Amino acid sequence: MGSLEGAVAVVTGASRGLGYTIAEELGFGGAKVVVNYARSREAAEELAAKLSENGNGQAMAIGADVSDAGEAQRLIEETIGTYGRIDVLVNNAGIVIDRTMKKLAPEEWDKVVQVDLNSCYYTVKAALPYFMEQEGGKIINISSFVGQAGNFGQTNYAAAKAGMIGFTKAAAIEMARYNVNVNAIAPGFLETDMYNSVPPEVQEKILSRIPLRRVGQPREIARAVRYLVEDGDYITGETMSVNGGIYMD
Ligand code: NAP
Repeated sequence: MGSLEGAVAVVTGASRGLGYTIAEELGFGGAKVVVNYARSREAAEELAAKLSENGNGQAMAIGADVSDAGEAQRLIEETIGTYGRIDVLVNNAGIVIDRTMKKLAPEEWDKVVQVDLNSCYYTVKAALPYFMEQEGGKIINISSFVGQAGNFGQTNYAAAKAGMIGFTKAAAIEMARYNVNVNAIAPGFLETDMYNSVPPEVQEKILSRIPLRRVGQPREIARAVRYLVEDGDYITGETMSVNGGIYMD
């Protein structure tokens, strides 16, 4: 792809946290960004306004629960309706419901798999005809080191995030013929609101597991997304670990 200038990028779950920073990185890089959200309308609209004013391109917020196939389809159709194309799709929306299996209810398993994994199939399926027609595009799925290593109290999340990695590889094989690259990024612990609210002794325990002795910054993941978009033409089916060494393949 080379440059973000004029590219149309959809970032799911971009009203807060990592998705917000990814949308910023792509928007300030020159892309027209669709800031997707589920509930945080105000935050998403503020970000879209900021990107429209200060970015090189345009931006708009679209509310859509991507765990619903019809809503995911509407997100892509509204993007095409406004911008006429889609060049980049970042599947970032995600939730956790952490419980040991002993306590985990089937609905809590289903909910996490629905939001974190099934949503990726829904958005990619909806965008597929446009990517095929354009004969080009970049799809980036935000997985987690937990999908590679597992983690206590996160069977649902680990299964969904591991599923994203398998989905990424199979989709990469299918979509290569249309010149569409499909990759995953597996972040380690990131410095987000959630991490900052964890008590210092728990933070200490987390840090002791990370060889680089610090948690990652959302910007470091956003830069990896941008790298894959701008310079990743010969990378597909890959899972890029950006994790301070907490898990090594
Ligand atoms: P976050 O701060 O909780 O933000 C989640 C975002 O996803 C919000 O914008 C939220 O929108 C959106 N969202 C949730 N459910 C949605 C749905 N059904 N449809 C559309 N949007 C939805 O999460 P985060 O920490 O930034 O994590 C972002 C991604 O990175 C997730 O996939 C997560 O698994 C992955 N990750 C995070 C870390 C970490 O340490 N934070 C580490 C590894 C991987 P609303 O605001 O509207 O609810």
